[in-house]
Amino acid sequence: HSTSRSASPSQVPVGVDPTRPSIARVYGAFLGGKVVYEVDRQVMAEITAAVPEAADLARGNRGFRNRACRFLTQTDIGQFLDCGSGLPTAENTHQIVQRHNDEARVVYVDNDPVVLAHGRALLEDDFRVRMVDADIFEPRRVVENETVRATIDFTVPVVLLLVGTMHYVCDDAAAPRIMREYIDALAPGSYVVFSHFIDPETPELTPIAKRVEDVLVNGPIGAGRFRTRAEVMAMVDGLEMVAPNAQDPPGLSVCAEWWPDGPRIGGLSGAARCIVGGVGRKP
Ligand code: SAM
Repeated sequence: HSTSRSASPSQVPVGVDPTRPSIARVYGAFLGGKVVYEVDRQVMAEITAAVPEAADLARGNRGFRNRACRFLTQTDIGQFLDCGSGLPTAENTHQIVQRHNDEARVVYVDNDPVVLAHGRALLEDDFRVRMVDADIFEPRRVVENETVRATIDFTVPVVLLLVGTMHYVCDDAAAPRIMREYIDALAPGSYVVFSHFIDPETPELTPIAKRVEDVLVNGPIGAGRFRTRAEVMAMVDGLEMVAPNAQDPPGLSVCAEWWPDGPRIGGLSGAARCIVGGVGRKP
């Protein structure tokens, strides 16, 4: 059984434009997912033509997300707001956190109709998990959403996930403002799980970041900024960052180097170094 879709209109869910690629499907396909249309494959081909190891951006990001969720089950926070959650894969936020706390509540927010359809199908029988259709770049709308409010209590700590999402805000002034609005809405003691494409600002790595950015920003996706370390740091301003591993001080790190599960098998590619992540606590 395969859920693979062609762009043939009869197989495309209502509300989906099969001529436009989707961030969620392209990202999901880089992770090995099967929900991918022909237009998405074209974007993937362009990205891998520009940077052959580009899938490492997606893998690094998803691995970081999984480990950060597992790490945060050590807190007693039982509510998770996962903004820009993406297509369901083998390991989703609610599965990771409910393994440790079966009462944990999770709200997924996305605006991609394919993500919403697959998410709702997966979550149908779990009353602690919800899938909300909203624009995550309008924080007020998200936190005031009726379903979000019914599931998440913002007067006590929350885990907010903005993982692999904020680089799709092209406006450099808007991005830190959106983060600030989210952080302001959280109770003290809340945690933010965050990752973002980065321009590592080195002669070897900047061209890799620029090549992927060029395909994303100037192609049909139309967004995907690789910001400098200073720009990305400004987006987690005010958070007390967790140390990303035993050797380094608190802060952001390359996603693949944020508390890796064990010894690395093989080296880290240039692309893997072009996405950073971190976990921060609101004081
Ligand atoms: N957070 C997941 C992870 O890290 O594995 C998925 C990241 S995926 C690269 C980005 C997701 O953000 C996609 O599912 C996309 O549909 C969603 N997204 C992008 N812009 C959005 C917006 N304005 N509102 C809601 N979701 C959005």
